[in-house]
Amino acid sequence: MNVCIIGTGYVGLPTGVGLAELGNSVTCVDRESSKIEALRAGRVTLYEAGLEELFHKNVAAGRLHFTTSMKEGVEQADLVLIAVGTPPHPVTREADMKYVHAAATELAEYLKGYTVIADKSTVPVGTGDDIEVLIRKKNPQADFDVVSLPEFLREGFAVHDFFHPDRVVVGANTERAVEVIRRLYQALPDAPLLFVKRRSAETIKYASNAFLAIKIHYINEMADFCEKAGADIHEVARGMGMDSRIGPRFLQPGPGYGGSCFPKDTMALAYMARQNDVDMSLVKAAIEGNRKRKKQMAERILGAVADVEEPRIAVLGLAFKAGTDDCRESPAVEIIAHLLEGRAKVTAYDPKAMDTARALLGDRISYAESMYEALEGADVIAILTEWEEFKSLDLEQAARIMRHRRIMDYRSLLDAAATEKHGVSYQGIGG
Ligand code: NAD
Repeated sequence: MNVCIIGTGYVGLPTGVGLAELGNSVTCVDRESSKIEALRAGRVTLYEAGLEELFHKNVAAGRLHFTTSMKEGVEQADLVLIAVGTPPHPVTREADMKYVHAAATELAEYLKGYTVIADKSTVPVGTGDDIEVLIRKKNPQADFDVVSLPEFLREGFAVHDFFHPDRVVVGANTERAVEVIRRLYQALPDAPLLFVKRRSAETIKYASNAFLAIKIHYINEMADFCEKAGADIHEVARGMGMDSRIGPRFLQPGPGYGGSCFPKDTMALAYMARQNDVDMSLVKAAIEGNRKRKKQMAERILGAVADVEEPRIAVLGLAFKAGTDDCRESPAVEIIAHLLEGRAKVTAYDPKAMDTARALLGDRISYAESMYEALEGADVIAILTEWEEFKSLDLEQAARIMRHRRIMDYRSLLDAAATEKHGVSYQGIGG
C-alpha cells in the first residue's frame, strides 16, 4: 500500500518506519525542512530503542521517503495518516487544532482516486467531521473517507508497540474505509482490531490517557499517605497490583506524570467536559494534584539542603521517562525550574535527553557528560528519571566526590540500606 504520513515526530516517524518494515511504500511529510533534511541525510531525529536500525534498513530498501512537499506525499497515497501535534491552547488549554486543520486543508487539493485519511493525532471528539468538511470545502470532487485511528504507542517502546499493539482502535463510518484499514493490518495478524464509531474512537484515546493519569495521581497520593501512616508504598502497590481487577502497572509512585500526552490530554478532556456540561471531578483532581506534586517534590529537595548556603543539586534524569529523549512537560524540567527559583545551582545529566533539555532550560543549569561529573561537589542527588543506568551508581565513588552525601530517589531505583551503608542519606518516596 502507498502510505503518506503527515508529521514526522514521536508518532509519525516510528509509525512510518514500522509501516515501511511491513512492506508498504511510505512517504513522510513534514513542514520543518531541517527535520526532513536530517532524515534524508540518514540522521534519525529522535531517540527510540530499535528505531535507527529499522530506519536505515527501510531507507536502503527504497520503502521510506521524506519530503516537505504535501503534493509528493499525498497524490500517490491510498492512505494518508495525520500525525501532527495537538498541543494545549495557550489560553483555554483545550487541544489546539491549528496543525490538524492546516494539514487537512493542505492535503485536500492533492487527493487522487479513493483515499482514506486516518487521524492519528489525539483530537477532540467530532474532529473527524471537521476534517471531512475542510477537505470537502477545498476539493468538492475528492473521493475520500476520514477515519479515526488513535495512537496508543508508549514513548520509549514506540517500535515494540507498533509491532505488538494491545489494540488498534478504528473509528470508521464506511465499509470501504474499514477494508483499507483491514488490508493495512493484514501484515500484523495478531493485532486486535476494534471497529467502533468514529466519535467513540476519538473518545477512547482521551478516556484511556485520563484513566492512566488518574491511576498515577492516585498512587502518588497513596504514597503521601504511606509516608504519614508508616506504611511502605511499594509493598502496598505490590499488594494492590496482585488483584487482577487492578493490575500491577502504573502503580509506581514518582514525581508526577509528564510528557507530551497526559498533561495536555487531561486538560483537553476537562475542557471538553465543561463544554458538554459534565463535571469530570476525577480528571480535574488529577490535573491539580499533579501540578502541585512537582512543586512539592522540589520543595523536598530544597528542604534537604536548607542548611547549605549555596546548594548544588545534581539532577540525574531530564527526560519525562526512561527510553526517550522527550522532555516535553517533563517533571524533571519543572522541578528544576522550582529549584532555580529556590536559588539552587543545578548540574544535570541524562543518557539521551541532553539536547532536548538544553533547548528548554538553556544555560540556566550546567550539563554534565556523565553521572559522576554531575555529582562532583553536589549537596544532594535528585533522581528524576527511571533510567537503568542510574541503578548502577557506584555509591562509594558518589560518597567520595559529593560535598554532602544525600540522595532523593524519586524513581525508587536504589536500595535505601545499601545507600546508607556508604554513609549517603537516602530519601525515597512513600515510606
Ligand atoms: P511531534 O510534535 O513530535 O510531531 C509533530 C510533527 O508534525 C512535527 O514534526 C511538525 O513539524 C509536524 N507538522 C505540524 N504541522 C504540519 C503540517 N501541516 N504539515 C506537515 N507537518 C506538520 O508530535 P507527536 O508527539 O508525534 O504527537 C503527534 C500527535 O500524536 C499528537 O496529537 C499527540 O497527542 C499524539 N500522540 C502522541 C504520542 C506520543 O507518545 N508522543 C502518543 C500517542 C498519541
